[in-house]
Amino acid sequence: MKLNWNDIETVLLDMDGTLLDRHFDDHFWLEHVPRTYARKNTLPLGKAKELLYALFRSQENTLNWTDLDYWSSRLGLDIPLLKREVDHLIAVHPHVTDFLLFLKRNGKAVQLVTNAHGKTLDLKLRKTRLGPYFDGIVSAHDLGLPKEDGRFWERLREKTPYDPEHTMLGEDSETNLSTAQAYGIRYLFYVSRSSSSLPPSPSRRFISLHYFSQLIPPAGSSEIDLKRYCSVPNELFAEVRT
Ligand SMILES: [Mg+2]
Repeated sequence: MKLNWNDIETVLLDMDGTLLDRHFDDHFWLEHVPRTYARKNTLPLGKAKELLYALFRSQENTLNWTDLDYWSSRLGLDIPLLKREVDHLIAVHPHVTDFLLFLKRNGKAVQLVTNAHGKTLDLKLRKTRLGPYFDGIVSAHDLGLPKEDGRFWERLREKTPYDPEHTMLGEDSETNLSTAQAYGIRYLFYVSRSSSSLPPSPSRRFISLHYFSQLIPPAGSSEIDLKRYCSVPNELFAEVRT
C-alpha cells in the first residue's frame, strides 16, 4: 500500500491535536477553566468539574463547542484572557514544521482547516508562528458549520476550490475523517498521538500516524510505503489503492 505524492494536489490539515499538542486544550478546558469557575463561584473543584464537563458535552459537535464568546457568556468568565494565562502550554507537535516545509517544497496547496474560533486561532498562530506555511486558513466559524457536519466539505470547496480525489486530510478526529470520507476526500490520515500527555491510540478505520514525518518519502522518491511507516487497519489491506 503506497502513497504517491504526485497524486496529491491539496493538503488539508486540522490544527488542535493534529499540528498542535492537544495537551494545551485538555488542560485548559478540563483543569484551568473549572478551577477558575470554582474559585469565582465558591464551589468545590469536584463539583465545578462535574457541572462544566456536562455542559461541555451538551455542546459537542456544534460550533458552540469552540466558540469562546459563547463560553465567556455561558460561564461568566473571560475565556480569551484565561487562555492567555496558560498560553505557554501551546506547542507544535514534533516534525510538523519539517512536514510543512516538505509540502511547500513540493508545491502542494496547504490549507489549515479548523473548528477553532477566530480568537483561538489568532492566539495560537501568534504563539507558534505557523501561519506563513499555509496558502489559506479557514475557521469553521467563518463557514457556519463544524467539520462534524458533512456539508462542511462542500462549503469549504466553494470558498477554496480543491479536487477531493487529489486531496489529503490530516485529523485527530475520526468523526471529521468520516464526514470527509463520505464527501469523497481520498487520502485520509489519523493522528494517533494528539496529546503529549496521553498514550497514542491508532484508529481502527483510518491509517494512523504518530508524526507527519512518517509521510515524508526518502530523498529522490515521491512514494511512501504506508504499511511500513504507518499503522494500517486490517480491513484496509483488502482494498489496496495504489
Ligand atoms: Mg483536532
